[in-house]
Amino acid sequence: MHTLPNTNVRKFETFPRADDMTPRRDPRRAPKVTIDDVPEDLRSVPGVVRDRAQETFFGRHYPEPNFKIGKLNQTYHKVIEATPGKVGETYRILGDKYGDLLARVNARAFSYHELPAAETIDPSPDFTKAIREKALSSGADLIGFTRFDRKYVALEQKGDALFKHAIVLCRAFDWETTDRAPSVDWDVHSYDTSLALALAALEVADFIRSKGYRVQFIAGTGLPGEKMLAPILPYAVDAGLGQMGANGTVLTAEFGSRVRIMGLSTDAPVTHDKPVDIGVNTLCEKCQVCVQRCPGRALSKIKVNWHGVTKYKVVADRCLPVLRFAECNVCTKVCPVQHYGLKAVLDHYRKTGGEILGKGSDQLEGYDMFEKGHYGPGELPRFDAQEGGKGLKHMASLLGVGTD
Ligand code: SF4
Ligand code: SF4
Repeated sequence: MHTLPNTNVRKFETFPRADDMTPRRDPRRAPKVTIDDVPEDLRSVPGVVRDRAQETFFGRHYPEPNFKIGKLNQTYHKVIEATPGKVGETYRILGDKYGDLLARVNARAFSYHELPAAETIDPSPDFTKAIREKALSSGADLIGFTRFDRKYVALEQKGDALFKHAIVLCRAFDWETTDRAPSVDWDVHSYDTSLALALAALEVADFIRSKGYRVQFIAGTGLPGEKMLAPILPYAVDAGLGQMGANGTVLTAEFGSRVRIMGLSTDAPVTHDKPVDIGVNTLCEKCQVCVQRCPGRALSKIKVNWHGVTKYKVVADRCLPVLRFAECNVCTKVCPVQHYGLKAVLDHYRKTGGEILGKGSDQLEGYDMFEKGHYGPGELPRFDAQEGGKGLKHMASLLGVGTD
């Protein structure tokens, strides 16, 4: 078994602070970007290209199932129990390092909405600034506010969502460790970062509750055994933290996708941020580095209309087998936006008339895939069917652990 021990949480247990738990290394923060920094030919729309009527239709009548409890994720866990790859090593290190702490943090986060707020309500009309300061001093690197739009709540959790505002928090991964992905060291660091962000989020939640308001965790802690109400990415985009990249996640100007993202909802009064256009929608069409470098061939060069949103869609069945290699993360490692910062990428694009900074170089595109060796630009590892080369479901059926 590769799950961590489960324990009942003591509701008022005091947890360590984020930066004490996982001290900072090199988050390598790039400058913020505004539309003025974006070359004309890369401008599109704030946030994502979307058809709101279609989104509402799908959200109401065909909501997305909860991936965390879905069949594909169950199959993945059966596969890593049968053949754990490097993930088993990560879980062993986490167990030695943290014991049952990760399970206790998960338990606190996912029962947090049961905790009462302070009896006396702070009369301040708006807590945005205070919550922002609290989050940044507790270990988050970025924070944004938006409406907790119920249409993104997962099928199985419809009706569980309590509050109307969403708070999205990010904490950056170390730059140098990310540059060595995939590696067990990176994988362990990614969980360290998830733990740090979850601890920061719990501090923010305690702060809001001390003001007389309540909090519910809406998206996963990123820790093994996490639960979620809704996927976090639509809220991160709506809160103006970035735009969706071809690697299937949000690219921030400051860190690209080199961030863990987490979400809370609350009834405390806050002011919503707005989606931004920082050029990513069109930049990804020109760049395509992650699409070409993905060892699982799980990324697509075309965008699709998915439930009313025009976006790149990751083929999870092809990505999941590669996650056994320490969560892979090649699609973040090779992204010029995380490596150099968006501002540097946009400036280079403008100066050169359309070149993508670092594209074609081994420094950006190269990676080591454990014992398979090093893969430079234009080279990809091959996986046989037993290793998942024909997808997770096929691999599961070969191992005799399929859930179909
Ligand atoms: S994690 Fe790896 S396999 Fe999955 S999409 Fe990213 S690069 Fe591809
Ligand atoms: S590697 Fe290029 S295409 Fe992929 S997410 Fe980054 S900028 Fe977009």
